[in-house]
Amino acid sequence: MARYTGAVCRLCRRQGEKLFLKGTKCQAEKCPANKRAYPPGQHGEGKRKKLSNYGLQLKEKQKVKRVYGVLEKQFRKYFKIASKSKGVTGKLLLQLLERRLDNVVFRMGLGISRSQARQVVRHNLIAVNSRRVNIPSFLVHKDDVIEIKCKDKPKIKIKDNLEFSKERTVPGWLEFSAAEMKGKVLRLPERSDVQQPIQEQLIVELYSK
Ligand code: SF4
Repeated sequence: MARYTGAVCRLCRRQGEKLFLKGTKCQAEKCPANKRAYPPGQHGEGKRKKLSNYGLQLKEKQKVKRVYGVLEKQFRKYFKIASKSKGVTGKLLLQLLERRLDNVVFRMGLGISRSQARQVVRHNLIAVNSRRVNIPSFLVHKDDVIEIKCKDKPKIKIKDNLEFSKERTVPGWLEFSAAEMKGKVLRLPERSDVQQPIQEQLIVELYSK
């Protein structure tokens, strides 16, 4: 499965805001977005250019793709599904992204970042409704039960992740028990459940051209 494999901190610096792609390092002082708050590259330290409307729309789309770790082809697919469904396209797009299994594992604190949560899923450590699922893009539904299914060693590592993530609150659409390492989808996510500041209408405008 295709995914971005470059230095993720460069993405935050290019974006001009913290995207929290690394987990522990994002909270630390050594976060490059704090230390070098200008775009990466030889001429990065110059002033940021004022963006056109199109530039702003493109930048917002890049941000959402980077936050959720989704490449263009799949992102377009989500947009197509959202635009064909009944309701507000931007909200439905974010809902689809939130429902991805790697995001759910991250939101429950079983991974310190979405990319680490994706690895947890890929390593076949997650079961949905008692059946192992190793597809990060798997979409969860209301009443799905998500749990860790593995022998002791990976469980120890996941306990470390939970320890680090304990400051993060599990969103209202999910329920999670750290003792049982088991959670449930209480309802589908709503717009207010998305924590990152996102202007989804810019993405809708971009794709509607
Ligand atoms: Fe972004 Fe985290 Fe890297 Fe900071 S440490 S630049 S927030 S990915």
